[in-house]
Amino acid sequence: MESPVQQYLQAIADACASTDGAVAGYIPELAAADPDRFAMCLATVDGQVYRVGDASHRYSIQSISKPFTYALALQDLGVEAVTAKVGVEPSGDAFNEISLAPGTGRPRNPMINAGAITAASLVDGTDGADRFDRVLAWYGRFAGRELAVDEAVYTSELATAHRNRGLAHLLREFDILTGDPEEVLDQYIRQCAISVDTRDLALMAATLANGGVHPRGGEPVLEPGVVERVLSVMTTCGMYDAAGDWVSSVGMPAKSGVSGAIIGVLPGQVGVAVFSPRLDGHGNSSRGVTLFERMSTDMEMHLMHVSRGSRSAVRNAYSLAEGLSRSRRRPAEQDTLARVADRAMVYELHGDLLFAGAEAIVRTVVEDDPELAVFDFSHVNEIAMVSRRTLVALRDRMREQDALAVVVDPEGVLPDPDAGTDRATRYFPDVPAAIAWCEDELLSRYGGDVAAHDPVADHPLLALLDDEQCSAVQAVMHESSYRAGEVVLAAGGAFAGVHLIVEGSASARATGRDGRSVTLVVMGAGTSFGELALGTGDVQETEIVADSDLRLLVLPADRLERLTREQPALALAVWQAIARDGYRVADRALRRGAVHQHQG
Ligand code: GLN
Repeated sequence: MESPVQQYLQAIADACASTDGAVAGYIPELAAADPDRFAMCLATVDGQVYRVGDASHRYSIQSISKPFTYALALQDLGVEAVTAKVGVEPSGDAFNEISLAPGTGRPRNPMINAGAITAASLVDGTDGADRFDRVLAWYGRFAGRELAVDEAVYTSELATAHRNRGLAHLLREFDILTGDPEEVLDQYIRQCAISVDTRDLALMAATLANGGVHPRGGEPVLEPGVVERVLSVMTTCGMYDAAGDWVSSVGMPAKSGVSGAIIGVLPGQVGVAVFSPRLDGHGNSSRGVTLFERMSTDMEMHLMHVSRGSRSAVRNAYSLAEGLSRSRRRPAEQDTLARVADRAMVYELHGDLLFAGAEAIVRTVVEDDPELAVFDFSHVNEIAMVSRRTLVALRDRMREQDALAVVVDPEGVLPDPDAGTDRATRYFPDVPAAIAWCEDELLSRYGGDVAAHDPVADHPLLALLDDEQCSAVQAVMHESSYRAGEVVLAAGGAFAGVHLIVEGSASARATGRDGRSVTLVVMGAGTSFGELALGTGDVQETEIVADSDLRLLVLPADRLERLTREQPALALAVWQAIARDGYRVADRALRRGAVHQHQG
């Protein structure tokens, strides 16, 4: 099946096939380009590359080199030293304008030729050739392959570079360039002649879109702080004297070059490159500009496009009173929980948590003012630094009033800054486990007479029997114990009898679609397991694991069978108790399902 994204790109390429403009004439080799050649590539930050047209046709990178050399200078020298030599103000001038700040001679920005020649001189290296070698290898890391110079373009441009030569000497006169201006000029013209194809450019743009990490293979190329700086300058200066128009109508950091390519960067999403050699009056590809305008509108790529993402950071919030608990407990505990369960809240979070998302979480929690809060990060992708700080501050505020926040974070998106200390946050593998802990905590805070309970005699399966029946049943049961983590019943086994939990707790677990083990039910003292197999053709479908050290009283399947045959009156009472308890559990599960569905 052809991807609709691929179809869409092909359709807009066909729809925007203007023949306005003319191929750049001032570099003889470029004047020979085929004006009708066309390519467009879109690379996502996770490395998917869509191509339309002649995506592997090569041409010289020209001015699209400028942001990448500027980035290398910034990474080599630091922002301050680079900014002392070249500014970040849009000049409103054409790319090759001889414009330097009056008095200092400092070029206004690194996207016009004067600034780009200066940036080239600031790259680390012993001489022009050495600096160039570093630049060439550097671009290769963005493209994801080794690049080379188109010697014909280089020779052709060097021979006619009167304007750029003039600029280089002027910059030397102002001491903006310090070495030999001819050496820097040569380096700059070589850098403009590096040969790339449209796919290379899309990946170079996507590396910027991906915070400086190559979308294929994940190599970190550029520091995030440098990425921000480079993208800012591309936004304000990348399209020369058309920058204002571009920012308004397309709204993407971009860079164009006279061979006819334009790259656009949508931070966090995609890098796009278009190649079509006919240029408009500003020296930008005409078809390229039209296509970017079209994509920006259709795909809502404008940087200032307001997304709602952060407003829905809290996908669902419910209290334990709303019945989502998956634990089975003895009736007395259930009563206590029914009274206080609304003091514990579960917050299901999702998306990328930027500041606005963290603020929404904080606001919700402050309003609810819960005593216990479970924050479920299972569906959160990324958490901005500011959000991490905000969430830790929220946890600390809660602690001040004796409220506790716990975290469910199977993917490890939110490491605890206090891990290993006595301030550490409690982490759980999934929500049911966290809820079970909250219930224990609520019971220890409000439980009252729970300890006075006799876990055997008061067990729902035994409570309705008279003393004589009770001891007769206990006589055919045996005790058994397990260590925390041990498997009590394996999935797939035959009905193994009824297991009463006397002490500790156990979980029923199953393997989810992603292969991860999920908790279905957490069972505490006073509950039982194993009998559910009677409802599934005598097959134990889930795995039962001891959560803590576990003490059980087991009525094995063969004993229950024998009891049924030999002491039918007693067996009837036992089966009655099993049925009653089974219906009690089923009833709670049905109600809980209804509440969950109601909440959406
Ligand atoms: N090498 C070209 C020049 O310096 C680059 C200009 C451009 O692509 N806009 O004139």
